[in-house]
Amino acid sequence: MSADGLKQGLFQRIADARDDLVALTRDLIRIPTVNPPGDAYTDCCEYIGRRLARRGFTVEYLRAEGGVGDSDRYPRTNMVARIEGKRPGPCVHFNSHIDVVTPGEGWTVDPFGAEVRDGRIYGRGTCDMKGGLAASMIAAEALVADWPDFPGAIEISGTVDEETGGYAGVAWLAERGYFSQPRVDYVIIPEPLHKDCVCLGHRGVWWAEVEVKGRIAHGSMPFLGTSAVRGMAAFLDKVERELYPKLNQRRTAMPVIPEGARFSTLNFNSIHGGLPEGQDGFPAALVADSCRLVLDRRYLIEENQQEVRAEIADLLESVGRERPDFRYEMRDLWSVDPVMTEEESPLVRALDGGIAAVLGRDARHIASPGTYDQKHVQRIGHLKDCVAYGPGILDLAHQPDEYIGIDDMVQSAQVMAAATVDLLTGKGTSA
Ligand SMILES: [Zn+2]
Repeated sequence: MSADGLKQGLFQRIADARDDLVALTRDLIRIPTVNPPGDAYTDCCEYIGRRLARRGFTVEYLRAEGGVGDSDRYPRTNMVARIEGKRPGPCVHFNSHIDVVTPGEGWTVDPFGAEVRDGRIYGRGTCDMKGGLAASMIAAEALVADWPDFPGAIEISGTVDEETGGYAGVAWLAERGYFSQPRVDYVIIPEPLHKDCVCLGHRGVWWAEVEVKGRIAHGSMPFLGTSAVRGMAAFLDKVERELYPKLNQRRTAMPVIPEGARFSTLNFNSIHGGLPEGQDGFPAALVADSCRLVLDRRYLIEENQQEVRAEIADLLESVGRERPDFRYEMRDLWSVDPVMTEEESPLVRALDGGIAAVLGRDARHIASPGTYDQKHVQRIGHLKDCVAYGPGILDLAHQPDEYIGIDDMVQSAQVMAAATVDLLTGKGTSA
């Protein structure tokens, strides 16, 4: 059969599986895999694994024993399912995180009820990202059913803790070769980044804590001490006047969405000075001897982490030259380098082709404002051909009344299936 005939058959089969896709997504939503703490991971993995095993996949359950957050009460259970084709060829892997963030306030529906209304499924994790997981499973199942002699291999993984860094999830598996060649060639992460967009990567992250140190004294005689809060204010003022204008000028060539995130950004995550944290009651008259700031700097592929760090350190030094009693410490909290898959990657072209075939329009290439598990695939797995592609609207992630459009899921499953046909048959790769 021609590749086009095969794809048309797959599109039909996936359209016919609409009710199954809805039921699958609803079942996944009803397993409340809230992280933190990391509830119900094993239940969720076993649910996915049982279903895929019935369709011929070999399923492995991999607990990240001793990994970050792993305990007997909250085991970090991951699931990897693989099915071998009848002929040699590459392996296409769909990776989804199974954890969801806490529902929070403001819901008008049960966050774990998976209510269906107006062509949407509502619930925590519908969009981020169990809808994408379900779509990839339906796509893979259709491929296996319609194309019994497919070449290569198809894998689906359900992994933990993406919302808290992914260390016991994709990072842990990547350290064990699950995201490297020769096992895997292409990784698609169905994060909610719009059904017509291919997400090539994300900006870099550098988090740091700055502590300004003062000297304690009686609050009625502040001239006898050194206020850490005033020192911090001087630093913040410098950032405001000297750094923000520069950051607002630095525009990246990365296609980051939304547009505002196409620049270098800096967020003050939290600040605390003076009274010990959590202390209530009437405060004593004291000069603050410590003030701590957590900053969240997102940087561009055109910048590098040493420069980004030095920029803050230089400002601190220059405050010190103006204020002789200014003392500070700066600590790195965590960081991630920017990642970006090349637009010429066969993986990107295959998804472009799928989007054109299913939606009848050109794909948009984007980059994410925040990070996701692609960083581990690239940095630990050394796999360049990794992107995010999945249904759902990015802005709905982590919001109350999160939902996923059923049509969007069906169409993105069709795109995934078409792209997989091209990747497994080597269409688009340099021969
Ligand atoms: Zn996500």
